[in-house]
Amino acid sequence: ILHNTIQELKGNIRVFCRVRPLLGDELLGNDGEIQHMTFPDPDHKVLELDKTGDSTLNESTVSRKASASQTTHYDFQFDRVFEPDSKQSCVFEEISQLVQSALDGYNVCIFAYGQTGSGKTFTMEGRGENEPENAGMIPRAVEQIFKNASDLEDKGWKYEMQASFLEIYNETIRDLLGSGKEDLKHEIKMVPNVNDVNVTNLTYINVNSPKQVSNLLSKAAQNRAVAETKCNERSSRSHSVFRLKLTGTNTITSEGSIGTLNLIDLAGSERLKESKSEGARLKETQAINKSLSNLGNVIMALANKEPHIPYRNSKLTYLLQNSLGGNSKTLMFVNVSPKEECFNETLCSLRFATKVN
Ligand code: ADP
Ligand code: MG
Repeated sequence: ILHNTIQELKGNIRVFCRVRPLLGDELLGNDGEIQHMTFPDPDHKVLELDKTGDSTLNESTVSRKASASQTTHYDFQFDRVFEPDSKQSCVFEEISQLVQSALDGYNVCIFAYGQTGSGKTFTMEGRGENEPENAGMIPRAVEQIFKNASDLEDKGWKYEMQASFLEIYNETIRDLLGSGKEDLKHEIKMVPNVNDVNVTNLTYINVNSPKQVSNLLSKAAQNRAVAETKCNERSSRSHSVFRLKLTGTNTITSEGSIGTLNLIDLAGSERLKESKSEGARLKETQAINKSLSNLGNVIMALANKEPHIPYRNSKLTYLLQNSLGGNSKTLMFVNVSPKEECFNETLCSLRFATKVN
């Protein structure tokens, strides 16, 4: 009973923080030690930050100058903190239950939030086809789902799995599994009676093996690379949503279950100054700011059990409305960089995350 109460209070929302290691040139003149971050909790739930003196923080710059030698201390608590040396397998272990619940008929959302370069794509997709130890949450989740589904066959369960992969850029949806016919319009439509959303003209593919899914991921990567040459940095300025719909029927008991696993690599959260952008860039900036802040608002409204949840204020939350709230489970990774020059962005990401926690 106690467990249920806590779950209810938390609204089925978990927040994990992951700090990536220093890489390449970042290690020059440094043995990999990250000076301003500490991980004091043996249970891996706390991240502490220290900022010494002459801070570049905008907030109360004046008073900070007056006490230039002082250190400002911040601590943040999460459901789990992953230190820079955490392996992908160790991170996946902590989400495997959640992945399993999609087979049990839950709608699950796993987000990666953070500034560009903080490790979101590494966490979600991983790196290098020939580096299995670096495979991210998407391929690991897919592998586990196929394995568990085949284990459940003994008990009479048969699963149909349907994959889709889309990108939301400037509040416009693009099909990452499409043939490249860019003119197709994708609109989000509520499907009456079944409590589901459908995206018009989107490619849905029935998948039967992990290998088939990894081919789809390669196709999506190609599609994105093409778009990237037309618009620099596009992938860091768009959200990508990988979705697996799992429809189970039990041939022995005639039970049924429908669950969805959504894995979302969010647009970079770095605060973009609207005053410094113009034209297309300004529109892009506003679209990102709006959809990320709306995501935070939706999650908070759900946690506070508010009567009105502002799903429709952005494409992302509209698309995910049946996978956020209700009988669904949400996990957010807050990815942060260990670089000292990223301190301010790191602080913003951690604050966003504790707000939704
Ligand atoms: P983002 O998607 O947030 O912009 P990336 O995932 O592309 O960031 O990460 C930036 C760089 O850091 C990439 O080269 C990536 O391979 C590397 N990286 C990120 N996280 C880790 C990690 N935990 N271990 C090793 N390399 C990482
Ligand atoms: Mg990325």
